[in-house]
Amino acid sequence: MGEPAYRGSQLYHALYAEWRLDFASMSNLPAALRQRLANDFRIGVPQISQRFRSSDGSVRYLLTLGDASATQHGSEAPARVEAVFMPSDGRQTICISTQAGCAVDCHFCLTAQLGLVRNLTAGEILAQVLIALEDHRESLKPRTNVVLMGQGEPLLNYEPVMAALRIMLDPNGMALAPRHVTLSTSGIVPGIERLAHEKVRPKLAISLNASTDEERDAIMPINRRYPLTALLAVCRKYPLRPWERLTFEHVLLGGFNDSPEDARRVARLLVGLRAKVNLIPWNPGELPYRPPTAERVNEFRDVLTAKGVPTFVRYSRGQDVCAACGQLALSEAGSVVSAIAPVPEPWPAA
Ligand code: SF4
Repeated sequence: MGEPAYRGSQLYHALYAEWRLDFASMSNLPAALRQRLANDFRIGVPQISQRFRSSDGSVRYLLTLGDASATQHGSEAPARVEAVFMPSDGRQTICISTQAGCAVDCHFCLTAQLGLVRNLTAGEILAQVLIALEDHRESLKPRTNVVLMGQGEPLLNYEPVMAALRIMLDPNGMALAPRHVTLSTSGIVPGIERLAHEKVRPKLAISLNASTDEERDAIMPINRRYPLTALLAVCRKYPLRPWERLTFEHVLLGGFNDSPEDARRVARLLVGLRAKVNLIPWNPGELPYRPPTAERVNEFRDVLTAKGVPTFVRYSRGQDVCAACGQLALSEAGSVVSAIAPVPEPWPAA
């Protein structure tokens, strides 16, 4: 546009540090330039199709992507994804999607039922964070965590995910701290190897969910491609920063992988790793599993803790609006969400 280079930095700052999603509000640019930008360009963020507000304060966003050529369930409808905003003491956590749908086919996860619709672009990944922050501008807490744990397997959409992460972690961009951003993978071994070599990278979480190959094969077909031995070998080589631990997530399915023997085997798998375990009691959905009992959850945690593995029980937020782990599967088919009425806008006071 013939403008000096620093105007580019100002635009970058307005977009990513101030979450200005329209040119008119970029007050660090001269009015004439804002007008020229608005005439010639547009900021292509996904549209918020619906917001679902949980009684615990979480907000689930249904976002429609701009690309109408992508199809979902054979229709010509644009692809949709979900993001979840979860406020808590002193911080907010934003869970974002990296793909529309997912091809990995974990059997306990409703997103798997969508199949892979398409990969998201770096902009679509970043925009989920910008939209959620902008939407809560007046009530934000000092710290923001981002977790790449929504729809999709981040390491199967590697380049766009890394491009988005570089802006999230750029001190001149969104300026999030690496320790506050977590990428969660089902265990894509080559992707973990690649991530290990990145100069800028988030924390890494591995979705483990089983203590033997037989058990993991039964719920995560990806395990046949990258079995536990290969997965844990790459974890042992992963270069952890001094402050960092690998996180292993274990979704507890009642009567399937929640026994004390399972816990002992998990502890053995993790010997020698600087790791912690997050136990996630399975969230009910239209799948043939059941949540674990509270006794089993506590017992599992106690076994791991006694073996010296820091272990935390994570109860998912937003269950009443299907925003919890494994429940993100809004689609044109809408079976998961059809019973939930969207909250009308403007929001009623909390
Ligand atoms: S748990 Fe994650 S990787 Fe597995 S099917 Fe669901 S979205 Fe995909």
